[in-house]
Amino acid sequence: MADEQSVQTEEQQEPRDRLDPETRARRDAALRHVRKYGDPALRSRARPVEVFDDALADEVQRMGRLMDDALGIGLAATQLGVMHRVLVYRVDTDAPLGVLINPEFEHKSDELETMEEGCLSLPGVGVEVERATEVRVRAVDAAGAPITVEASGLEARVIQHEIDHLDGVLILDRTTREQRKQAMRALREGQTASPAVEA
Ligand SMILES: [Zn+2]
Repeated sequence: MADEQSVQTEEQQEPRDRLDPETRARRDAALRHVRKYGDPALRSRARPVEVFDDALADEVQRMGRLMDDALGIGLAATQLGVMHRVLVYRVDTDAPLGVLINPEFEHKSDELETMEEGCLSLPGVGVEVERATEVRVRAVDAAGAPITVEASGLEARVIQHEIDHLDGVLILDRTTREQRKQAMRALREGQTASPAVEA
């Protein structure tokens, strides 16, 4: 692909291969909190959040910290074994943390785009996934206030990836049979390749 996104992700990939020891240690520590393939939490549907209290605010902040430390661009609560419909994301390093609670798609574009995706729960796996290029999502924030987010490109992609997590769906379910087979082999053999973006 010669579009803007693939260029951007290649730029992201390079530094990943030469992380300084401190960043790598922080990433490894964060990844120990992330449920990996085979954990039933990743195959379960999360429940809507009904109580918007301090514990929820803490949970959201913790998710943001772990996502940043793991160098991911998105994280769903189910990846931490918390069966709440909560996701966080940040596509641009300088942007504030995106938080969507009880998200529902209001609109998905007919236009689709295929790009390689990684997943913090599937170490060493990168598979091509077709996603809508634009989405509009209705959700609430950590205080329970309604919000609507319109996203495109990589931001739309990561939101779709995380909402899939809340429904127990993984990128393995959204790729070709051949790529799924290769991914399963990589998981079995514990390969250490770094996909361009992980969420
Ligand atoms: Zn994921």
